[in-house]
Amino acid sequence: MNGLDFHHQRSAQERPGTLWYSARLVILLGPPGAGKGTQAQRLAQQSGLQHLSTGDMLRDNLRHATELGKMATPFINEGRLVPDDIVLGMVQDRIAQSDCVNGFILDGFPRTLAQARGLERICRVYKSKSITVVNLVVHPDTLVRRLTNRRICKLSGHIYHLIDHPPIQNGICDVDGSELMQRPDDNEDVIRERIRTYECHTRPLIDYYAARGLLCRVEAMGHPDAVSSEIKTLLDRQEPTKQEARSSPPLATRVNESLGK
Ligand code: ADP
Repeated sequence: MNGLDFHHQRSAQERPGTLWYSARLVILLGPPGAGKGTQAQRLAQQSGLQHLSTGDMLRDNLRHATELGKMATPFINEGRLVPDDIVLGMVQDRIAQSDCVNGFILDGFPRTLAQARGLERICRVYKSKSITVVNLVVHPDTLVRRLTNRRICKLSGHIYHLIDHPPIQNGICDVDGSELMQRPDDNEDVIRERIRTYECHTRPLIDYYAARGLLCRVEAMGHPDAVSSEIKTLLDRQEPTKQEARSSPPLATRVNESLGK
């Protein structure tokens, strides 16, 4: 995760040329509680794609008390969206890092039309066939139940559910033995505000990506294993052909070029 200071954050537009390349971009869409984080972790493990969660990046900034973190705190605590320019700058810095060269999974980004357009500007490769937007569809009634019962491991962010996927030992992560915690914004009032925010700002992205022929719908009410296997199947089906891979943009692309500068 990055612990970038706000003073080092500039808007995506102002950023100097940065090397950028992605072999494959997976965007996970869905309301809070749809399972984006769980599925992104699993997919990253299976595929080697880098998992990028804007929520985790922001919380990491909070923990390190960076200027960005201080600025983002009230938005996160109240279930509102952190301003687009800040999030876009943070994502652009992150995907320019070397561990993203083989592609990445975006979890929680884009969340507004402005962010989707920003991503499109940043990534010329966006038009490539190797982009998949997975829309995780969950019945709204289950979201609050999922989130109030969610617990997360302090060390690596492994996700548990007290009823559906409890840890073996109460309060302890099965994977790394660290303590489990409840996110402060996983309380009912903030959850309802996050869901309202999703409906208002993020749901329009479904039509946006459907119109571009990039959207895949996945029923996400079932067991996480079933959802993972459905995602894997659809990504396998969309594996770029050799011809598409040859015609994709050069390995390194200058962001300024992609911005048309
Ligand atoms: P969830 O999807 O369960 O709501 P996240 O961890 O993705 O949880 O996000 C937590 C909070 O971080 C959001 O409620 C919001 O305040 C902030 N946040 C995360 N991603 C973005 C984003 N792309 N744009 C604006 N704010 C964001």
